[in-house]
Amino acid sequence: MSVSEGSSRGRFGGYGGQYVPETLMSCLLELEKHYASAKADPAFGTELQKLLREYSGRPTPLYFAGNLSRQYGGKARIYLKREDLNHTGAHKINNCLGQVLLARRMKKQRIVAETGAGQHGVAAATVAALFQMECTVYMGEVDMERQRPNVLRMELLGAEVVPVLTGSRTLKDATNGAIRDWVTNVESTHYILGSSVGPHPYPTLVRDFQAVIGQETREQILAAEGRFPTHVIACVGGGSNAIGIFSAFLDDDVRLFGVEAGGSIHGHAASLSEGLPGVLHGAYSYLLQDDDGQVAMAHSIAPGLDYPGVGPEHSSLKDSGRVTYVRVTDQDALGGFSDLSKLEGILPALEPSHAVAFTRQLLANGADGADLIVINLSGRGDKDIESIEEMLKS
Ligand SMILES: *Cc1c(COP(=O)(O)O)cnc(C)c1O
Repeated sequence: MSVSEGSSRGRFGGYGGQYVPETLMSCLLELEKHYASAKADPAFGTELQKLLREYSGRPTPLYFAGNLSRQYGGKARIYLKREDLNHTGAHKINNCLGQVLLARRMKKQRIVAETGAGQHGVAAATVAALFQMECTVYMGEVDMERQRPNVLRMELLGAEVVPVLTGSRTLKDATNGAIRDWVTNVESTHYILGSSVGPHPYPTLVRDFQAVIGQETREQILAAEGRFPTHVIACVGGGSNAIGIFSAFLDDDVRLFGVEAGGSIHGHAASLSEGLPGVLHGAYSYLLQDDDGQVAMAHSIAPGLDYPGVGPEHSSLKDSGRVTYVRVTDQDALGGFSDLSKLEGILPALEPSHAVAFTRQLLANGADGADLIVINLSGRGDKDIESIEEMLKS
């Protein structure tokens, strides 16, 4: 299958690599080459920073959640990194702005993207409109149903949303659809992958574009508290918001927690806690598998966490023990959602509600030296209110 699976390029520990058919290798090499030249070009960085500032509204605030801190025992000061205040309502735009600039550099006129929650699809459709490129977004039929408002948003932004009817009709299948389109139309098309997953160089470039979250947090917490946090907590789907904030603290004495979807009796999406290493979407990483080694169905109330794989860098950080990965159930995540809504007046997305719920558990169980916590609030909850209403009824 792979051309370079034995090489160290794009490897995190033993994870990552490029497990792709020959036809994809040229696309990946082209992307890698242009990314390297963009990184070395100060004009690229200047333009990206300008867009992040003027278009997306960065830096996002680091907000001290006083009521939540008091409610969760009062021993720890809890801060929220407000990625929900980005244009389009989540951290996804950071990566999309970076990748659309790469697409223009590569002279592509068309964008394809996959989406689960619809947040990445909306962010991709947004940057495509901004740069006047054509945009096609692949989305599982099941996700289209539970995230209607985002489907409408993408269409209003001028994108075509293609329903994916194969497999579990969720994010994994949408990703297959986007990859297939990319291989077929590679001359004209750039694939904006939405998380730190997939074949090299995606996990690296998506991390780099999301690293702005951690860089800002580092400066902001030092300005506010004069020291680093004891704990940084982020939800993990593919892992991009988590690696974005973790990357700034990996070399410091800061405990890092990645929170996976523990789901319900219907299943879960805890690839790191419950999975085994295997290959999905071009990379070797932890993966939910059945007894025969087939990719298993993921389940979470948070559509952005509903993915059976995870980024290869997280697999390596799990094995080294640098990051602790934990799981939170659907039910507890709803509690986190409710706490933040009622105590702080912030409706969080269901994805980071998992990180809020874990913070509550951590502090209820003796806190483990946690006295200064940053939660990465990866997105806002407007997209989820209909499905939350349904769940609270049932
Ligand atoms: C997509 C999404 C996630 C999960 O993706 P990661 O790559 O793990 O960050 C988390 N939160 C929100 C709000 C999302 O839209």
